[in-house]
Amino acid sequence: MDSYQIEPIGHISSPYKQKFAIPRQPRLVPQAKAKLLFCQNFNREEFVRGIDEFTHLWLLFRFHETADKGYSALVRPPRLGGNEKKGVFATRATFRPNGIGMSAVKLEGIEYKNGQLALLLSGIDLLDGTPIVDIKPYLPYSDAMPDASAGFADTRPETHMTVSFSEQADEFIAAQTTYPELRDFIANVLKQDPRPAYKKQKQETQFYGMTLFDFNIRWQVDESHNQVIEITKQ
Ligand code: SAM
Repeated sequence: MDSYQIEPIGHISSPYKQKFAIPRQPRLVPQAKAKLLFCQNFNREEFVRGIDEFTHLWLLFRFHETADKGYSALVRPPRLGGNEKKGVFATRATFRPNGIGMSAVKLEGIEYKNGQLALLLSGIDLLDGTPIVDIKPYLPYSDAMPDASAGFADTRPETHMTVSFSEQADEFIAAQTTYPELRDFIANVLKQDPRPAYKKQKQETQFYGMTLFDFNIRWQVDESHNQVIEITKQ
């Protein structure tokens, strides 16, 4: 049996500090900005020369947080409410042989600061620290297929979730100046309805928490409404 060793070329510095609440695909939350920081062996301008001619890139990465947890031939796509099983290769599930993921993201810029080469990206769906194993330019003439159909995942997932912010949350957002898009970022993450499928059937008020950047965010869900209760700094 052939086997390969793969050396990461870089790592993602992402606002998403835990898996929960990360959107299920890239570009669903455009405010999700991240940096791809190149590892020492690839930390040279030559590796990215010409990349600024492309607006979007494919990232190939390792699902590092779950890669050692195995996989099954059949998985339950959240799209189907967790009730129906599909073959792992008919899904974009994280638990898969080799633990490789791929995301098309927007290239916002290139940075070279204090000897560190970085790509500035947006619309990402990656956990902080995700190892990147390759980058390729997105080629619209070949990669975009307007006639394609995608079965159970044919349309962009839309929810009817609404979002409001408590007085404390609004004051916290107004007082911090580092992330001008923080309010829209939080709202769009919550509009994706990150709850596990089985929780979506429940009637009672539910409480959740997540960390974005170094902010702990707590919210409650009543039917289709999210209320951000509290934001605190870690
Ligand atoms: N766009 C990619 C793909 O199709 O291969 C990822 C799709 S996967 C369904 C997206 C989920 O992967 C996110 O919601 C998040 O929970 C999870 N995820 C992101 N980065 C991860 C990592 N480094 N390790 C494990 N899970 C990760």
